[in-house]
Order: sequence, then C-alpha cells, then structure tokens
Amino acid sequence: MTQQVKHFIDGEFVTSNSDKLIPVTNPATQEVIAQVPCATAEEMTRAVESAKAAFLTWKEVPVSERARLMMRFAHLLKEHQAEIADIICRELGKTVEDAKGDVWRGIEVVEQAANIPSLMMGETVENVARSIDTYSYIQPLGVCAGITPFNFPAMIPLWMFPMAIACGNTFILKPSEQDPMTVNKIAELFVQAGAPKGVLQVVHGAKEQVDAILHHPDIKAISFVGSVNVGQYIYKTGTDNLKRVQAFAGAKNHMVIMPDANKQQVVNALVGASVGAAGQRCMAISVAVFVGAAAEWIPEVAAAIGKVRPGVYTDPNAAYGPQISPQARARVLSLIEQGKKEGATCVLDGSDCKVEGYPDGNWVGPTVFSNVTTEMEIYKQEIFGPVLTTMQVPTLQDALKVVNDSPYGNGTSIFTASGAAARKYQHEVEVGQVGINIPIPVPLPFFSFTGWKGSFYGDQHAYGKQAVRFYTETKTITARWFDDDIPVSGPNMSINLR
Ligand code: NAD
Repeated sequence: MTQQVKHFIDGEFVTSNSDKLIPVTNPATQEVIAQVPCATAEEMTRAVESAKAAFLTWKEVPVSERARLMMRFAHLLKEHQAEIADIICRELGKTVEDAKGDVWRGIEVVEQAANIPSLMMGETVENVARSIDTYSYIQPLGVCAGITPFNFPAMIPLWMFPMAIACGNTFILKPSEQDPMTVNKIAELFVQAGAPKGVLQVVHGAKEQVDAILHHPDIKAISFVGSVNVGQYIYKTGTDNLKRVQAFAGAKNHMVIMPDANKQQVVNALVGASVGAAGQRCMAISVAVFVGAAAEWIPEVAAAIGKVRPGVYTDPNAAYGPQISPQARARVLSLIEQGKKEGATCVLDGSDCKVEGYPDGNWVGPTVFSNVTTEMEIYKQEIFGPVLTTMQVPTLQDALKVVNDSPYGNGTSIFTASGAAARKYQHEVEVGQVGINIPIPVPLPFFSFTGWKGSFYGDQHAYGKQAVRFYTETKTITARWFDDDIPVSGPNMSINLR
C-alpha cells in the first residue's frame, strides 16, 4: 500500500477523507510512489476557516517577528536542501544539481521575505496643508491562495507564501498533483521554524479544488503559475469573482544570436538553456534566432546538444531527467512528428530515446530543428520538452520582429559583442525579462519576475517590491492635531485642506 499524501490544515498534517486519489509516479519507472487526495469540500472549508481565524492574530504580530520567522525558515531550508532535492528527484526526476537549484532559488525569496520591515514602509509628507500631515501604511489583505505547477515544486511555492505571510496574510497553497510531496516537506520545515497554527494551509487536489479557491468569498488574492489556458481561466474567473489575481502562464522564449557573438559561449548557453531540465522550464530557450552568418553555427550547436543524454537522477552523468508523465512525453513526440511533416529539418531527433535499465521512463532525447518558420506548430506551441527550434534571419531588426510578433513575453536573450546591438534589443524587445549574453535571465528576488504579454495576466508580479504590493493594501492617513496656538477658523465648505 503506497503512502497517501497528507493535507496540512489548521496546523496539522491530516489524512484526507476523500475517495478521489491520484497516483504520484516516479517518471523514470512509472512506479506509483504515493497517492494524492483531492480535498473534500469540507476539508477546503476547514482550511479557509482556519486561515481566516489565524489572520486575526497573525496580522498583529510585529513585522520584525514575522521577519525572524523567515530568517529561521531560510536557515532550515538551507540545512535540508539536499533532503528536499531528493524528494524532487523522486517525484519529478530532475537531476540532483538541478533539484538543489530549484530549492535554492526558493530560499533566495525567503531571504528577501526576511527583509519585510523595509519593504513594508509607507510614505510620509509633513505639512501637506498648514499643520496637516499625510502618511501611509501597508496592511495585509487577509487569506490569500496559491496554485502551483509541477516543474518547480520548491521554488514556485516559495515565490508565493513566504512573501504573502511576511506581509501579514495567511495562505492556502494548492500544489501540483503531479509532484505534491515536496511542498509537504517545506510546510514541515515552516512549522519547525515557528510558524503559528493556521498561517499556512496545504490542500491537495486538482481542478475541483482550484475552483473552490476561485469561488470562495473569503479568499482575497490568488497567485497562479501554470500553463496558458489554465492561467487565462484562473485570471478571468478570479477577477470575475472580484479577487486580486496574478497568473504566470506559458512561454516561448527566443535567443537571438548575432554573428559577432562568442561562438563557444553561444553553444554552451544553448545546450543548457534548451534541453536542461528536459525543457520543462518556463524560461527555457526554445527558439534560437540566428542573425546573418551566425546561422553557420547551427550544425555545431546541434552536435553539442547531441552529446547530452537524459537519465535517472542517481546517474551523475545524466544531463536531465524524464518528462513528468507519459502524456507529456506523448505530446512532445507528436509535436516533433508534426514539425517533420510541416517541413522543418530535424537535424537531431530524440524521439526514439532509450535509457538503459529504465525502459518505462518518459524519455525524450535532445532534439533540434532548423528551417523553422513562425507558421509551424513547433514554433507556435510551447513544447515543454528538450526540443530546440532554430530560425535564420538577415538582420537584428528581423529578429526583433519575430520576437515581438510572438504572443508570449516571458524571457529572451541576445548574444552579441556589440553594446549597440544589445542596447537596441533591450530597448525595443517586447518581453519582460531580457538577458544580454545570459540565456535564462531569471531575476533575483530583490527584483520581480516580470513576464509580459501572454506569459502573464495581472498587474503586480512575483516577489520583490511588486509582491508586497500584490499582497497588501495601502492605507493613507491625513492628520491634524489641534494646537492652542492655531487660531480656530469657521467651517471649511470646500474640498481643499486648510
Ligand atoms: P498546469 O496549468 O497544467 O497546472 C498548474 C496548476 O493548475 C496545477 O496546480 C493544476 O492542478 C491546476 N490546474 C490544471 N488544470 C486546471 C484546470 N483546468 N482548472 C483549474 N486548475 C487547473 O501547468 P503544469 O503543466 O503543471 O506546468 C507547466 C506550465 O507552467 C508550463 O506552461 C509553464 O510554462 C508554466 N510555468 C510558467 C511559469 C511562469 O513564471 N510564467 C513558471 C513555471 C511554469
């Protein structure tokens, strides 16, 4: 009998009463390693009620104490980084190094949450009118919720609840049903760090549980990360229900390669950024746009990518792991087939990939296409697999047109030795995160994660100052204290302050 993943409700890890269970599988073997329950309506209600009750006391806890909780939490996450990474490896199949990176990029956000006192400072102006001062406070919203994808089971939950809770909110997290165990370990460490009962709840499930969050009147704000269709649905439904919503969605990220770039840096960057993590990254480079003579490097790029092999996490030579599920693998393979039918040149074909000893794993070998055009499905769809599509254009201006015509705007990068080309690209490109000779420009948490266009629905982004704005309200106070020296005047019949 495999273990059942527990919810974390009202300060306790509880076994669900649900009869709806989803198997969690090891993607390298198909072995069922756990069953994840879909929370019942009663469990969802209990989680929200507990979060509501906890909010009343948590919002009164001094901001410096809330910061100290985050310091202790960051410390514990560092101590247990390898243990959390091991869970990620088992349920998602990432390599050990990549899984550790997943945890580390989350820890960095927790460190930022420990800076919450300075991030929550309001503004003041003295004497806005005679003897009148105005000042503002930043106050928490109440119960907030997060819905997370499978591909970063540590980092993305850590983008959300530490900032929300540091701001004084309480939080309900619904992690991906495909790899739900990582978050439970993280919640356990949060309790160990001293998180009071009810401040964080973890409820497991799928669409039905997400819908319960979207329609619950007591949930004030929802943070979502996942695919574009679901992101649009969450944004529309959540805002229709008058909630504050930020929805980080799918992507198609381009790297523009100028002929003056350092060829070896380009090759190395493309290998890691295209097939690393089996292409299951929202910031993966899936389109390489070669400008002018740089196109001559495509065979060399394909040869370097061809040296990379997937494998199980216990194999130190594995460059990346399997796709998350047989369905995800089948989808990637069908897109590869479609690319061939549509007339792209498959210079490296990873469709028939085998890993010795693991015949049932969801393997896809590294794949590279050339002569890809913007009409092809392999260009239009987010493949989310280890597939690099390449294009050739005559000028930087043409490359900019390709990138700006894409409906997505999560990340992009340019490789060049020219400051002028880089400056033009960073200024004119309609993408929210730009790397210059950096393939995956995910900002550190003192900035925000600023995807644009179809990669993001909402106003305020994840982490950094924007997360504080997302999870708080501003209260502005205008005050006068009467002083006997100030002459008493008659009633003020105007809107002006005096
Ligand atoms: P997904 O959209 O299938 O699932 C995300 C979450 O939504 C899960 O918790 C899932 O249970 C829930 N969900 C799924 N279908 C739903 C439905 N019909 N109604 C309500 N909720 C539903 O995404 P995924 O496959 O887990 O993750 C991969 C996707 O996430 C990729 O598209 C990737 O680009 C995107 N992603 C984006 C970012 C970003 O910052 N922009 C970061 C990471 C991942």
